[in-house]
Amino acid sequence: MKPQFLPMRIISFFIVIAATYLSLFAGTPAIAHPSNPTPEIHWTYQDATGPDYWANLAPEFATCKSGKNQSPVNLTATESADLINPDFHYESVPLNVLNNGHTVQVPYAPGSYVTLEGQRYNLLQFHLHSPSEHAVDNQPWDAELHLVHQNDEGDLAVVAVLLQKDDAASSSGDFDQLSKNLPVEAGDKVRTGKTINAQNLLPSKTTTYRYSGSLTTPPCSESVTWLVMTEPVSLPAEQIAQYEKLLDHNNRPLQQLNSRPVQMDISP
Ligand SMILES: [Zn+2]
Repeated sequence: MKPQFLPMRIISFFIVIAATYLSLFAGTPAIAHPSNPTPEIHWTYQDATGPDYWANLAPEFATCKSGKNQSPVNLTATESADLINPDFHYESVPLNVLNNGHTVQVPYAPGSYVTLEGQRYNLLQFHLHSPSEHAVDNQPWDAELHLVHQNDEGDLAVVAVLLQKDDAASSSGDFDQLSKNLPVEAGDKVRTGKTINAQNLLPSKTTTYRYSGSLTTPPCSESVTWLVMTEPVSLPAEQIAQYEKLLDHNNRPLQQLNSRPVQMDISP
């Protein structure tokens, strides 16, 4: 189920880029990568560079089409289980927001992690999609937050939080702060001088759906552990409207589940 050499190389490449960006963005010296001159391959969410064509854009994107364990998927539990909940250890970090042309992303300073089945996965960054990428029992949601983690072996785990508009929702301080500081143009960065704690972006209940999937963006590398929180977070309608306007359908369509199990944790 795990294609070995190439995907790991691609994941490592992805992480190096993310780490480089993170260090750049944190204002620390940039890491030079003279051995890595490949320019970024242009991809989008529509037309001839959209999801149906990602695999055609570059050989290293082939998994987007050939992969059998792709994300996102429709989540309908194939098994219920009493799983050990992820244990979040998130610290407050400087709130810097980047519009990378695909999403708005907040790089996360080192030191925050989640423990998952005894393993530590460090939080690298979080970003948004609107509408949601995953569906639950065929229901899409208004938006989806992805918290991207990596362990020392280079394996990725993504925690997803489904977001829904609710006029009765009281605004949350950290989502508010994020929403007030969204860079509108691709390439824009906002350094707020404030802090954010991703803990405050999570629902109170930490039960999850779990399955093995992929990155939802090129190169669509597999062997990503997905944890989708079963409880959505409600946000005021104007905040969701802001995400919808800015992100404008940056959601990859649902992929075939194939033979993968989807576990649903039934115990709080
Ligand atoms: Zn994502």
